[in-house]
Amino acid sequence: AHLDRIAAIDEKVHAFLHVDTDGALAAARAVDDKRARGEKLGPLAGVPLALKDIFTTEGVPTTVGSKILEGWIPPYDATVTKRLKAAGIVILGKTNMDEFAMGSSTENSAYGPTSNPWDLTRIPGGSGGGSSAALASFQAPLAIGTDTGGSIRQPAAVTGTVGVKPTYGGVSRYGMVAFSSSLDQGGPCARTVLDAALLHEAIAGHDPLDSTSIDAPVPPVVEAARNGDVKGLRVGVVKEFAGEGYQAGVMQRFNESVELLRELGAEVVELSCPSFSYALAAYYLIAPSECSSNLARFDGLRYGLRTGDDGTRSAEEVTSLTREAGFGPEVKRRIMLGTYALSSGYYDAYYGSAQKVRTLITRDFERAFTDVDVLVSPTTPTTAFPIGERADDPMAMYLADLCTIPANLAGNAAMSLPCGLAPEDGLPVGLQIIAPALADDRLYRVGAAVE
Ligand code: GLN
Repeated sequence: AHLDRIAAIDEKVHAFLHVDTDGALAAARAVDDKRARGEKLGPLAGVPLALKDIFTTEGVPTTVGSKILEGWIPPYDATVTKRLKAAGIVILGKTNMDEFAMGSSTENSAYGPTSNPWDLTRIPGGSGGGSSAALASFQAPLAIGTDTGGSIRQPAAVTGTVGVKPTYGGVSRYGMVAFSSSLDQGGPCARTVLDAALLHEAIAGHDPLDSTSIDAPVPPVVEAARNGDVKGLRVGVVKEFAGEGYQAGVMQRFNESVELLRELGAEVVELSCPSFSYALAAYYLIAPSECSSNLARFDGLRYGLRTGDDGTRSAEEVTSLTREAGFGPEVKRRIMLGTYALSSGYYDAYYGSAQKVRTLITRDFERAFTDVDVLVSPTTPTTAFPIGERADDPMAMYLADLCTIPANLAGNAAMSLPCGLAPEDGLPVGLQIIAPALADDRLYRVGAAVE
């Protein structure tokens, strides 16, 4: 049924870069066979899923939304892919994304933009717009995203779906193409909080193949999602996430959610995290710096595209030509920014300062979490904007992640879930919940209570 749905409507939405019809049908049959043999099946066995095209899939193309990996067929599965398969989940295909996960609208994909199912002229968020659009258009009930600065939560917010960035290190990054390794985190996307929890449990947990993977039990997220409750919970409203640039209807729905939390028995306080005002600036030094290092591996020699290799050019020239042809404008911008920020003479002033700000942001969170159990904010300052509106204005695009970036810098767990439609445009608004590292279950307990 989901493959039929994709065939019927994805021409309009463009959520998928690759639909793996044969693989999906084979996986579904394998689950049927298991059931026929009377074998025990997990809770998600046979459930279809849309996988962001940043995770390697053995034998199935993986492009990261870039021309530089066009035609590359990975010889191995990412740990997330492996765990999905082990859970009996049916991977329908690979979803569209901003090139190398750099963007907030999916317009930076080398393969064309994805549309928001609520209004096809608008962006579905980014970088994981394909995954969230697939959920919102009922092409898949589950999806996987990655969140470096908001790429799970912001698309969830603008498509009226649920997205969770687990605690950094909670989900393995092995086989997840690297953008900014100290920030990148894979996580679940779904239409309900409980669905997200079930998927979270299927993919999370220690992986010896990822040196930053947390070697601790996975927080009890499914149990929390089944027991939504905020009675006596201390909730902090971050003062800095409001004011200029925040759409009236977004603030209205957010304030109603805060009211609902109060009615359900939470103790709500307003608090300040002063360093959050510098989060965006710090992020746009740290993420490009790490990107400039990580993307050095795309040299035209190892995998994917190779341009100009006619026997007359040096390896260096082939690498230059390949990168010129293979990387899009935003990726080039970030590599240049990062290379500059890391260059000797500027390192302390830019990268060094950004790392200090990162520590201050972490301390703001630590202080806040001595007073409250979770923090809440709108996920994004505005609802989905029209395709093209911010395409030529990187600064305007970067502002979409104003509220989501601090949790990446500190490594905390955070969720976005729908909290109604903005009255002025009828588009979905997201409520963000942030919990301390390793307390991912709190997100689900709160999310299930207000859902
Ligand atoms: N929009 C942010 C960026 O462009 C975040 C991207 C992400 O989380 N992958 O970097």
